[in-house]
Amino acid sequence: MQLTFLGTAAYEGFPNPFCDGGNCRETRQDFPDYSRLTSAVLVDDDLLIDFGPNIMAGAHKSRVSLFNVKTLLITHSHSDHLYPPNFGFRKKPYNASYESLPVMTVLSNSTVLDKITATNYFDPAKVLTREALPFEKIESNGYEITPLPAVHKVEEGEQCLIYLIEKNGRSFLYASDTGPLEASTLERLSSRIRKPLNFIALDATMGFVEVNEFPFHHSSAEVIETICRMRSLGILNTETKVFAHHFSHSSNHPHRKLEELYSEHGIGVTFDGLKISV
Ligand SMILES: [Zn+2]
Ligand SMILES: [Zn+2]
Ligand SMILES: [Zn+2]
Repeated sequence: MQLTFLGTAAYEGFPNPFCDGGNCRETRQDFPDYSRLTSAVLVDDDLLIDFGPNIMAGAHKSRVSLFNVKTLLITHSHSDHLYPPNFGFRKKPYNASYESLPVMTVLSNSTVLDKITATNYFDPAKVLTREALPFEKIESNGYEITPLPAVHKVEEGEQCLIYLIEKNGRSFLYASDTGPLEASTLERLSSRIRKPLNFIALDATMGFVEVNEFPFHHSSAEVIETICRMRSLGILNTETKVFAHHFSHSSNHPHRKLEELYSEHGIGVTFDGLKISV
């Protein structure tokens, strides 16, 4: 699998265009090539994870086409992950290749699917919806996808999800947005996989705060703890590529400094346009 990170920020972008804090100012002045759009990842050219308001900008920035996307995974309904007008880009009269556009299957929780089908942007001729439930493996276009419960909160009753994606014996865990996972989730994941994962992108939103009192995202210290817990359960090993992902400007440094700090722990840092073979 080839992964392309179309965006790597939390909701407000990094820099947040309205913020004059140190991290945003420094990124604007010294590292403009490392600005971050809202998070999304393209796998090969046919599976997309998340569908936020920057999907157009992210595709342009990474110079990719989304024409071939046949599977769309949506983690939850926060507005940086679900922006229903994106579905309109696929429709007539806006799409000159509408007739040959593949049907796209959207996998997500029922809250997200209800929001999509309720809008005028929904095109039942070209979009199928399929509910994703924790630990129920789904096959889609050659991928095996296992949704897992995130520790994250939107509305009462919405089950936020992270996804294990497997293809041709290779595996990728997309784990944003979430706080440290439940022990039972890690144990079930550990018992299901045949070998340690090849790649993980793990939520690192809260960054370098002294104490993280918000349980629905990871701080950098919690990223390191979660990776250790996963290694001790055999979910990851020393061969697994580990990347921190989904950054808020408030307590994360500009990219180069983040790379320096995480590299001490053997952890990489995603950036917009990053391409990795898994
Ligand atoms: Zn988010
Ligand atoms: Zn800022
Ligand atoms: Zn969220």
